[in-house]
Amino acid sequence: MSVATMAAGGLTTSPAVNAAEASSYAVSTTTLPDGSTTTVRWDPCGDRITFKVNAGALGRSDRPSAVREAKKKVRQLAKASGLRFSYRGKTSFVPRSDNAGSQPAELVVAYVRPEQTDYPLTGPTAGYGGYNFGWQGRTDGSISYGVTSAYVVIDVPDTRSWSTSLTEGGVTRPGLLGHELGHAVGLMHVADRQQVMYPSLHAGSPQTYADGDRTGLDVVGRAAGCLAPVSS
Ligand SMILES: [Zn+2]
Repeated sequence: MSVATMAAGGLTTSPAVNAAEASSYAVSTTTLPDGSTTTVRWDPCGDRITFKVNAGALGRSDRPSAVREAKKKVRQLAKASGLRFSYRGKTSFVPRSDNAGSQPAELVVAYVRPEQTDYPLTGPTAGYGGYNFGWQGRTDGSISYGVTSAYVVIDVPDTRSWSTSLTEGGVTRPGLLGHELGHAVGLMHVADRQQVMYPSLHAGSPQTYADGDRTGLDVVGRAAGCLAPVSS
C-alpha cells in the first residue's frame, strides 16, 4: 500500500498551531498588535475567492480531467466551509515561496514537477498547500488581518499511478487535493486518522471532509462570521 506524506501548510511567517484545539481539527492563530489572539482565516464576507488551475505538467490528454478534479474539490470545500470561490481559468503560474505577490488569482492549484517549485515536494511528500496572510485594507478605510492568498502544489511524478476517482477513498489524487485545500483555508494537521487533515493518506482515508474536518471548517469558514476590522 502506498502511503503519501503531506507537509503542513506553508506560511510566510510562523503562527503557532493552537495545541489546545480538539484533536479532530486544528487551526492556526496569531497575535494582533492589541494583544488579542485570532484564528488565521479568509474573510468569508469579501468577494468570491478567485482561483486558477495549472495542469501544465500533466500530459496534454490528462489536463482537462485534472481541471475538472480541482474544480470539483474546490466546490466540495466551498460547500463544507461556506467560503465562496470563483474559477478564473487555467494558468501557467507555479507557486513558490517568493512569488505570492504575483499570483494571478487568490488561490492557485498547480500540478507540478517538484523541481519547478521550492515548496518541499521531496521524498514521499506528494502535495503541499498553504496560505499567505497579513493586513488588508477594507472599503470603509479600516483594516483587517487575514489570509490574502493561498496555493496548492501537487507532485505529478509522485501521484502518476494514483487513482483519480472522485468517489472512492484511500490513496487518491482528489483525496490529496482535498487535504491540501484544507491547508489553503487554514486547517492544520490532526492525529485522528479518520480525518482528511491527518498528515498522510492511507487505505482508510475519507474522500470527503469528515466530522472533525467540518468542525474545523466552521472555525475558519463562514460560520465564524466576517473578519472584524482591527484598530491600528
Ligand atoms: Zn498536510
